[in-house]
Amino acid sequence: MKPLPWHQGVWDVLQRAESDGHLTHALLLVGESALQVAQFVTAFAAADLCEGESGQGACGQCRSCGWLKAGTHPDLRTVGLEEKKKIISIKQVRELTQSASKTTHLGHRVLVVDPADHMNVAAANALLKTLEEPPDNNRIVLGATRLDRLPATIVSRCQRYRLPAPTTQQAMDWLRDNASDVPASALDAASGCPLTAMQLNADGSAGLYSQRWQALFALCTGKGGVDALTSDPAGAIEFMNRAAASIAMAASGAGSQSADSKLQSRIVTLAERMSQRDWLQWQQLVARALEQCGTGINEGMLLDAALVDLRGRLAA
Ligand SMILES: [Zn+2]
Repeated sequence: MKPLPWHQGVWDVLQRAESDGHLTHALLLVGESALQVAQFVTAFAAADLCEGESGQGACGQCRSCGWLKAGTHPDLRTVGLEEKKKIISIKQVRELTQSASKTTHLGHRVLVVDPADHMNVAAANALLKTLEEPPDNNRIVLGATRLDRLPATIVSRCQRYRLPAPTTQQAMDWLRDNASDVPASALDAASGCPLTAMQLNADGSAGLYSQRWQALFALCTGKGGVDALTSDPAGAIEFMNRAAASIAMAASGAGSQSADSKLQSRIVTLAERMSQRDWLQWQQLVARALEQCGTGINEGMLLDAALVDLRGRLAA
């Protein structure tokens, strides 16, 4: 398993630190996309455990790589979110840290917590003790997308690396080589993350994203139905928050990062219908509506208010 192409720079830095003996026992890898962080953490753990010498990812041939393939590596312990859970519990972390003092099979153990920013306070405190005084031969690898959700005490004890997001071109190239059936619109739906685009394409969410754009265009031109917006108010408000940002950016003349050129040209045309100031004001209104979603307020009314406001501005 190799790192994603846009993570190669960070990968090389880590490999150099390792070969120079400067890599510490605790690493924190932070990126914008949970899937990309998980991919890097998995690839790094495999390479760290590998008995081969390539320096460019796990060899795939050695004992360690064989165990990894079978999912039975005795020197790898991973803690993540259990199904339908939103936090990593102290019980999970305790099981992880207790394994740190046991004898290793190949002389080196990797303990993974990802997403570490989902540990509750008790879990983070339990991990802290092991981070402060790690038994020999253990490397602790934490993955996260939200640094602000990790206690400073945890962050300060780790060597921290930021995983960059791909450019639109890098993401499109990667999809072409690895998942050519995924359309460019799915990349937009996934905020530019190609791994998320694959997931959204598979579960149908990418199609819904396109339908919502069509409904928004229909609303603004008075042609066509807007069911894709009104059927799920909270989802539509979340979509409109992102759409408003894209349109406001197009209205500023800053261009766009959109991977779908057809969609982009329609956004530019729509942006020209009113001033950038109007778009920014509408964006703020939608952002406020999004903040109120899930608080028990009638989300259908929030959506209606946002749509009425947009219609009014366009008609003015
Ligand atoms: Zn290997």
